[in-house]
Amino acid sequence: MCGIVGYVGEKNCIPILINGLKRLEYRGYDSAGLGLIANGKSQVIKNKGKVSLLEEKVDKLNITATLGIGHTRWATHGAPNETNAHPHFNTSKNLFVIHNGIIENYQALREGLKKLGYKFITETDTEVLPHLIDSFLVKGHSLFRSVQLALGEVEGTYGIAVVYANEPNKVVAARKGSPLVLGIGENENFVASDVAAILAHTKQIVYIEDGEVIEIYKDHFIAKTILDKQVDKEIHEITMSLDEISKGGFPHFMLKEIMEQPESVCNSMRGRLLLEKGTSKLGGLESVVDQLVDTKRIIISACGTSWHAGLVGEYMFEQFARIPTEVEYASEFRYRNPIVGKDDTIFFISQSGETADTLAAMHEAKIRGALVLGICNVVGSSIARESIAGVYTHAGPEIGVASTKAFTSQLVVLALITLLIARRKDMSLVDGKTIVEELQKIPEKISTILKLNDQIEKIAEEFKDVKNFLYLGRGYNFPVALEGALKLKEISYIHAEGYPAAEMKHGPIALIDDNMPVVFIAPKDSTYEKIVSNIEEIKARNGRIIAIASENDDKIDSLVDYSIKIPDTIRMLMPLLTVIPLQLLAYHIAVKKGLNVDQPRNLAKSVTVE
Ligand code: GLU
Repeated sequence: MCGIVGYVGEKNCIPILINGLKRLEYRGYDSAGLGLIANGKSQVIKNKGKVSLLEEKVDKLNITATLGIGHTRWATHGAPNETNAHPHFNTSKNLFVIHNGIIENYQALREGLKKLGYKFITETDTEVLPHLIDSFLVKGHSLFRSVQLALGEVEGTYGIAVVYANEPNKVVAARKGSPLVLGIGENENFVASDVAAILAHTKQIVYIEDGEVIEIYKDHFIAKTILDKQVDKEIHEITMSLDEISKGGFPHFMLKEIMEQPESVCNSMRGRLLLEKGTSKLGGLESVVDQLVDTKRIIISACGTSWHAGLVGEYMFEQFARIPTEVEYASEFRYRNPIVGKDDTIFFISQSGETADTLAAMHEAKIRGALVLGICNVVGSSIARESIAGVYTHAGPEIGVASTKAFTSQLVVLALITLLIARRKDMSLVDGKTIVEELQKIPEKISTILKLNDQIEKIAEEFKDVKNFLYLGRGYNFPVALEGALKLKEISYIHAEGYPAAEMKHGPIALIDDNMPVVFIAPKDSTYEKIVSNIEEIKARNGRIIAIASENDDKIDSLVDYSIKIPDTIRMLMPLLTVIPLQLLAYHIAVKKGLNVDQPRNLAKSVTVE
């Protein structure tokens, strides 16, 4: 999820691009780079790390340009170093491309281009683009036409901006699946992946749609489709403030990230589902897949929300892959002299890939000869680099301290790993296909649940002043009960506990009175009747009940105070849906209490101390 900004006009574009990139830094800060065209000459400047480091480097060069593009990277393919930073360029270094998204068929394109004599110097998927565009330029096509023709061969997602020294008065931009807007100014025009980057200069915005390619000059622009059909574009006047906009119009990053989940889970499965074969394709595990299938035992080690995802993973692995699985707190694993050896596979899950406890546990497991695998969001992070193999979750940067979209993406990845192992063992094609089909429907179902935001906000108003909460669920939804309780604790500072619903009678039921709200995760699955009995037990003791229930469940309304009705899916994927209302509930309670949901007290996003 990188940030893109481009300028064509009469002013020196360097401060415009640098300030624009700073506004986009929430989209990634692995590296930053500029591609400039000045007096028909091209120049690329890039740096690992934050935009401020790029700024220092550019300041020392004392250069100016009136046309250029800038990029801040959140790496998906290739380590976050200077070589892999954007812009990427052709061999003559007179054509620059910046890209947001993933070129899914980059390996095939790369092989084809190598045969034509093109040389690759980075590990990124993006680098195929400048060479592919170049391969059309050398046949005599214009830059615009070459971009159209190149994109005709590309599978995947992109927002791109391209500049070419031989056509020094334009930026060409195109989009499929990644956001991109055009900003219209006086004798200057802009392109950006987010209006925040250009709002200081213009409020006149044109939204670029999927499949469109735009040729941007300082005083006009031409919009066509990849197939060269003319398109009419409308100019919109933006009214939002800069601060509102960097959060995508949301009051908090946490809400933005909750709302992004249809897209982020989609990104986690993009290019990884093989419907016809009823399985998944995970490039990062290819080298170890045989070992993984034959492993005698799986251990999942993590902390916090990632540990909850691991618990869901345990249920998936045991039910379908039929491999005994244990879930360990990373902090405990390390200090209890675990019995671990070369027959074991250990997955370490961490959003940041830098969680100190998880990293330390990984080092311990490595020494003992286990197959050490990582599941991380941040590309090139310590866990990603030091594990033997692994899978990226591709959720995009998560800024809110309370993890939301990283959790659902971890669940998707665990489901993909389950498919990969189970289909090589005894899962039938039909069952594999059902899981793939259900995974494909998840983003839309999450969108449906997100529409319940107003209803959940009203429920939050009712419960914002309580002191304790209990969350109960069974089977796959027990870890969701833990996660719901953790979200509430983290951001609203209300004491909350998650329990397996049936365990309630062995202790927590003593807490129930008319002050104690209980959240039941009660979708219509095989444990439904049992959970209804648990609801009755709470009701009999005057507890107040909020139920997360199936949309076709009419019976539950007479039993509970509030019901939040959500779509169904197969049991193993249900946590991807049931957790969404719980994230929203915690969020709204915290907001109503006037708390800082993005930076709750005493917490940090990436816990890099043990
Ligand atoms: N795939 C590109 C890279 O890794 C762009 C990443 C993105 O947009 O997140 O550099």
